[in-house]
Amino acid sequence: MSIPENLVIVGGGLAGFSMAQELRKRGFGGAITIVDPEGLPYDRPPLSKEYLDGRQPADKLPFSDESWFTENNVTLVTDTVTAIDPDTLEVSLASGTTLPADEVVLATGGHARSLPIPGGDLPGLRYLRTKADADALREVLVPGKHLAIIGAGLIGAEVASTAVHAGAEVTLIDPVPIPGVAGMGETIALHLHKLHEAHGVHTLVAQTTAFAERDGKFVVEVDGGPDEGGTEVVADAVLVAIGIIPDIHLARDMGLDMDRGVLVDESQRTSHPKVYAIGDIARLRHADGTLGVRHEHWESATHSGQTAAAALLGQDLPVHPAPWMWTDRYGLHVEAVGTMREEGELVVRYRDGVPAIAVMLAGDGHVLGAAAIDGGNAIRAIRRMIDRGIIPDREKLADPTVDLKKLAR
Ligand SMILES: Cc1cc2nc3c(=O)[nH]c(=O)nc-3n(C[C@H](O)[C@H](O)[C@H](O)COP(=O)(O)OP(=O)(O)OC[C@H]3O[C@@H](n4cnc5c(N)ncnc54)[C@H](O)[C@@H]3O)c2cc1C
Repeated sequence: MSIPENLVIVGGGLAGFSMAQELRKRGFGGAITIVDPEGLPYDRPPLSKEYLDGRQPADKLPFSDESWFTENNVTLVTDTVTAIDPDTLEVSLASGTTLPADEVVLATGGHARSLPIPGGDLPGLRYLRTKADADALREVLVPGKHLAIIGAGLIGAEVASTAVHAGAEVTLIDPVPIPGVAGMGETIALHLHKLHEAHGVHTLVAQTTAFAERDGKFVVEVDGGPDEGGTEVVADAVLVAIGIIPDIHLARDMGLDMDRGVLVDESQRTSHPKVYAIGDIARLRHADGTLGVRHEHWESATHSGQTAAAALLGQDLPVHPAPWMWTDRYGLHVEAVGTMREEGELVVRYRDGVPAIAVMLAGDGHVLGAAAIDGGNAIRAIRRMIDRGIIPDREKLADPTVDLKKLAR
C-alpha cells in the first residue's frame, strides 16, 4: 500500500482532530488539512455540563490552541465541504475553492434531530450540538425562566440538571416512562430518572404533538393538546433533545455503502479504498457482513480516529477495550461499559439501599455490560472482565463488600 502525501479530513470535531494528532504521533510526514466551518476543534461534552453551567470558560473548550496546528504542520481551513469527487478525490468547499487530496477522511459528526410535527420547524426552538447552541441556551437558564425539554435522554437529562440548578423552572417531556434503559439497564435508569422530580424538575410521560408560539412564549402540546384530551406546557424556551442525525450526505453523494451510517471495516475504511469514515457517522460492517452499533460517544470517536491513523499508515491496528461512555447529572457521575441492550440477567449491587452498579450477564455468565453511579473503579474492573472474557461469581458481583478488582483477576 502507498502512504498518501496529501490528506484532507472533513470535520474537525473530536474524531477528526484525534486522527490528525495520532497521525503525527505515529510519524506521518504528509500534508494534513482539516476543514470545518466551526474553526478550532473543541470538545462537546462540556456543552451540556461544565460549560453550560459556567464552571468551564470558553477558552478551555478547544482541544489545543492554534500553535498546535503550526507546530504539527496541520492546516485548518474554516469552511464547509460541499462535495468530494469519488474519482479524483478533489474536495469542493462552500467558498468556491477546491482542495486536492489523495486520501480523504469523513468525520462530519451529526446535527440535532428535529421533531416532524406541526411547529417542529419553528426557528426559535433550541438544540444542543455546538458551542453557539450552548451560548444561546445559557441565556434562558436563569431564575424566572421556564424551559421545556423534549427528550429525557443523556443530553436532555444533563441540561435539566444544569437548568434547575441555575434556578430555572424545567419541564422534561418524554414518551418513555424510563428513559436510558438501553444504555444503563432498567434499575440504574429508573433511579436516575426519579432524581429529576426529587430536584424539582417536572417530568411528563407524554408524546409531544405540536409546537406553537403565543404571546411571546412557546406552547408545547402533548398527547394531542387540550382539544384532544391532552395538555399543553407554556415555556419561555424549548430544547429539543431527541438525538442526532449523522451528517452522511457527502458519503451518500459519493456512492459509498451506507446503512444508517457510513459503513466501514475494522480499519475505518469505507467501501471506497481511499476514503475513511470516523466518529459518530461510522458504522462497523464486520467481515461476515453483519453490522455493529453506530456509537455516538466521546471515547469511540477518539478510538476510531486512532484506528484510521494506524490503518492509513499500514501499521497494526490498535486494540481498543469494550466501548465506554459517561454522563453527569445532579452531582452524580455515571459510567457505562459494554452493552446493556442485549437480553440477559441484570445483577445489581446496592450501596446504602441505592442501586450503585448494574451488570448485565449473558446466559453463560459472561459479562455483556455494566453501568455504575460514582463507580469509575468498578467500571474499569468490569471492563477488564468483558475484555478478558472473565466469568464472575454472581453472588460476589452483587455483594458490596467484595472488591470488583479482585473478581476481575
Ligand atoms: C452536548 C453534548 C454532550 C455530550 N456529552 C457526552 C458525554 O457526556 N459522554 C460521551 O461519551 N459523549 C458525549 N457526547 C458525544 C461526543 O461529543 C460525540 O460522540 C463526539 O463529539 C463525536 O465526534 P465526531 O468528531 O464524530 O463529531 P463532532 O464532534 O460532531 O464533529 C464533527 C465536525 O464536523 C464538522 N462538519 C460537519 N459537516 C461538515 C462539512 N460538510 N464540511 C466540513 N466540516 C463539517 C462539524 O462542524 C463538526 O465540527 C456529547 C455530545 C454533545 C453534543
